[in-house]
Amino acid sequence: MPRPLDTIPVSQWGFFDESIPPIVIAGPCSAESELQVMMTAKGLASFGIHVFRAGIWKPRTHPGSFEGVGTPGLKWLQKVKKEYGMKVGTEVASARHVYECIKYGIDLVWIGARTTANPFLVQEIADALRDTDMPVLVKNPVNPDLDLWIGALERINQAGVKKLGVIHRGFSTTEKIPYRNFPGWQMAVEFRTRYPLIPFFADPSHMGGSRLYLKELSQRAMDLGLDGLMVESHCDPSCALSDASQQVTPDALKVLLESLTVRQKVTNDREYNENIEQLRTRIDVLDENLLGILSSRMEVSRMIGEFKKAHNIAIVQASRWESILNDMVSKGKDLGLPEDFIKAVFTAIHEFSVSEQNKILEK
Ligand code: PEP
Ligand code: MN
Repeated sequence: MPRPLDTIPVSQWGFFDESIPPIVIAGPCSAESELQVMMTAKGLASFGIHVFRAGIWKPRTHPGSFEGVGTPGLKWLQKVKKEYGMKVGTEVASARHVYECIKYGIDLVWIGARTTANPFLVQEIADALRDTDMPVLVKNPVNPDLDLWIGALERINQAGVKKLGVIHRGFSTTEKIPYRNFPGWQMAVEFRTRYPLIPFFADPSHMGGSRLYLKELSQRAMDLGLDGLMVESHCDPSCALSDASQQVTPDALKVLLESLTVRQKVTNDREYNENIEQLRTRIDVLDENLLGILSSRMEVSRMIGEFKKAHNIAIVQASRWESILNDMVSKGKDLGLPEDFIKAVFTAIHEFSVSEQNKILEK
């Protein structure tokens, strides 16, 4: 059971201008040179980006790839703060990175996907952050494990960090998909439902792996009502030392952001509010009916269990289950319900039914 998180709403961090959603963090994948950092920051600041990102220590798949400029790059971020009044953030993957960030006045840190998957490292980072006021964003772990993600947040929160947010950047997959990472939006929705107050960013750059997909993924994040975007932007993307194909110039980012349709979370429109209320009431009634039907079905299933026990019959009758499932899939199709959905629902019902009948048998 996840523990509640004790957090401060993003509106009180003083980092973002929330009057024109979404809130945006942008900047290069990696800080490469003072010139590249300053040119990119200048372009981003020119259209109101308030929070600048740049990787200083880069977790690369192969040794020998560009692994970031390290501590000297923190001075360039200080310069961005001073010249453009932006807040600056970078990725930390160890206690040493945290201490360096504190020393150089970095405003925000994030924990990368590979690090979130490692509770030892997350704990080390949490301990290093203790008693600081540093906002921390936690990227989802590379593998789609919601509990591992939540566990990382709990560790950071228990170290007293209250300015806490998350970044959804998709999951590693062996499936053939157009994106670099599998979006797995369902997990974002689940997280959001459990923790509606935690600021939620999508990272369409690492999710898509190509600037071609930035628009559609950013729009999807807006349609889901997420709060913000973290986007990689470089003054000269084709020459970037890391993630060249997914970065966009500040100008292109401006165009992209202007093209997004941002969904409101609430509205004062009376007609909308009244209609949505009625529709939600209908949903509530249907949900209650569904519960009633499920409960009746389980009751019959238990009666069948008793009956099977009395006649010494095995619980799982594979052919019967197969025929129920096929029948439901085909009837579902006629009602416009997709096969995957029907299979998932009836498999859950069947599993519970079997476990109830097992209990009866063991009595
Ligand atoms: C990054 O943001 O630069 C990064 C390395 O991302 P991720 O941890 O999502 O791979
Ligand atoms: Mn990157």
